[in-house]
Amino acid sequence: LMDLYMPLNWFGTYYRAIQKNFVDMENMFDLLKEEEEIVDDPQAKPLLAAGGEIEFSKVTFGYSPEKLVLKDVSFSVPSGKTVAIVGPSGAGKSTIVRLIFRFYDVNGGAILVDGQDIKSLKQESLRKNIGVVPQDTVLFNNTIFYNIEYGKIGSSSEEVFDAARNADIHDRILSFPDRYDTKVGERGLRLSGGEKQRVAIARTLLKAPAIVLLDEATSALDTNTERNIQAALASVCSNRTTLIIAHRLSTIIHADEILVMKDGSIAERGRHEALLTTGGIYAGMWQQQLENLDAGNGSDDSQKTV
Ligand code: ATP
Repeated sequence: LMDLYMPLNWFGTYYRAIQKNFVDMENMFDLLKEEEEIVDDPQAKPLLAAGGEIEFSKVTFGYSPEKLVLKDVSFSVPSGKTVAIVGPSGAGKSTIVRLIFRFYDVNGGAILVDGQDIKSLKQESLRKNIGVVPQDTVLFNNTIFYNIEYGKIGSSSEEVFDAARNADIHDRILSFPDRYDTKVGERGLRLSGGEKQRVAIARTLLKAPAIVLLDEATSALDTNTERNIQAALASVCSNRTTLIIAHRLSTIIHADEILVMKDGSIAERGRHEALLTTGGIYAGMWQQQLENLDAGNGSDDSQKTV
């Protein structure tokens, strides 16, 4: 009987451990999609980070050779400035973000960070300098403390609390049953879309990267939550090089440059006011947004590009 019992007990223990790691691994794959595909060059150097300037120089890219998703895309985000990307679904916006993270290598042209071609860099050093606030933040099945601390493992409690305060989620966490020790994620307390985004903001504040890539939520957040989150987002982006994929034009009227993507190319570019006067795609999108507001459905998520 003992012989039979022991392995079963063992199996139970390991099964739980494996299952747990498996869930965390799935989370990691979501966070770092297709991470393993690119291998560092043997001569790869660490990024010498300065202000986090990003430059796309004639970038051409396709997930497969038959279909180019980006065609001759050039733009730059000077250190500390904000560039916004807008455009219809499938235009290539998220692809630009994935390429900066170097989940894939470009087929033509180059991406430079602080003047260094990212192909020549150690990926770890590149990613250390980039913070991402995704549309839908993946939470680990762990405490809320761990989920924030993940931005900079080894942070002190005070640092984690401060980040949470600046992301405007500290008070909310204190209302959880076990405060910062409350388990969250699929098998713990479920957080709302807005709360998850605040966790991502807190993580990024802890990480304090030179570059922030922000994939604005298409919706799921009500207008009030949205307004409060703008303040937290502003604090994570201030004094950092910021590239934002925007779905609400109202959030990017102050961007230093707006790129309007269409079918893998930059169809229009400029500041908000200038784009409005040219009467092109952007002006049309803006008009559409005003009409939606007039119709009283400004927080409606059916209008993805607004
Ligand atoms: P959305 O606003 O819907 O997120 P987007 O502008 O971000 O759209 P991308 O996600 O960059 O668009 O996609 C650009 C094109 O690349 C689309 O045609 C899409 O189908 C294709 N694509 C995206 N990801 C992959 C992938 N992993 N493998 C193959 N094709 C892909």
